[in-house]
Amino acid sequence: MTNRLIKAYAFEKMARVYVADTTEIVQRAKDIHDLWPTASAALGRFLTSSVIMGAMYKGAFNRDDAELTLRIDSNGPIGGMVTTTNTHGEVRGYVGNPHVFLQYDSGKLNVGQAVGEGHLHITKNLKIRDIFTSSVPLFSGEIAEDFAYYFRASEQIPSVVSLGVKVNENNDIIAAGGIILQMLPGYKEEHLQAVEKAFKELPHISFLIEEGKSLEDILALITKDHQLLEELPLKYHCDCSRDKFERGLMSLGIEELRNLIEQDGKIETSCHFCNQQYLFDELDINQLIDEIKK
Ligand SMILES: [Zn+2]
Repeated sequence: MTNRLIKAYAFEKMARVYVADTTEIVQRAKDIHDLWPTASAALGRFLTSSVIMGAMYKGAFNRDDAELTLRIDSNGPIGGMVTTTNTHGEVRGYVGNPHVFLQYDSGKLNVGQAVGEGHLHITKNLKIRDIFTSSVPLFSGEIAEDFAYYFRASEQIPSVVSLGVKVNENNDIIAAGGIILQMLPGYKEEHLQAVEKAFKELPHISFLIEEGKSLEDILALITKDHQLLEELPLKYHCDCSRDKFERGLMSLGIEELRNLIEQDGKIETSCHFCNQQYLFDELDINQLIDEIKK
């Protein structure tokens, strides 16, 4: 089963809504990083909102190659998080500390405490002009509220963001997903009220996905007044390569490379996003040094 996202107009076409199932993506992140439950919930919510945001730029400015890097710098035990995503439904990410398990008294995972206070930074490379980054303070560290705050403060778009990750006793991901609804220009107060009422009555997204509801079912639960626009498959995908790590090593310069090889006789690197290891022995490094000299 592959994850996907659907996009629709709703509320007399005065809102655009995205509904995504990201269960497999979050499970993959959990497997790669050995995430404990609260880290799964935090990174899972962040991956979900990131991949939906990437999908928002599909076709923007008649292009399809936008890339987004999202970063949370914060003081909680999780030690911050990074994701990258694009318009093709591909996303990857990591947390500073994967071994975090904090709960509220109710047993609910305490993502806000795990993340702590800090900032959300979103860097957009839309491939049309300069790359730009906008930053907002975190609202609560619960991720959904932080993104809603970002859309309102940074992009002046009233939005509803709902994100959820459910973890079982084996730390596996039973359900993960998200909904982002954004008001469109021309909306009236009555549309906002209708949206608020709909979301007040909507069961939590992770509960709906766990129950086996399809994305279309969930959209219909939000409102019958919708028009489906498109769907997009989603996946956890890392595009790292030995080539990219070679270029990274070359940027260190000849002297630093010589120091590193003198210390250990080899350089071991690994990708933060997927844990793929890349080993460079003395011969490899000498080749890189020759390459730099050229
Ligand atoms: Zn990688």
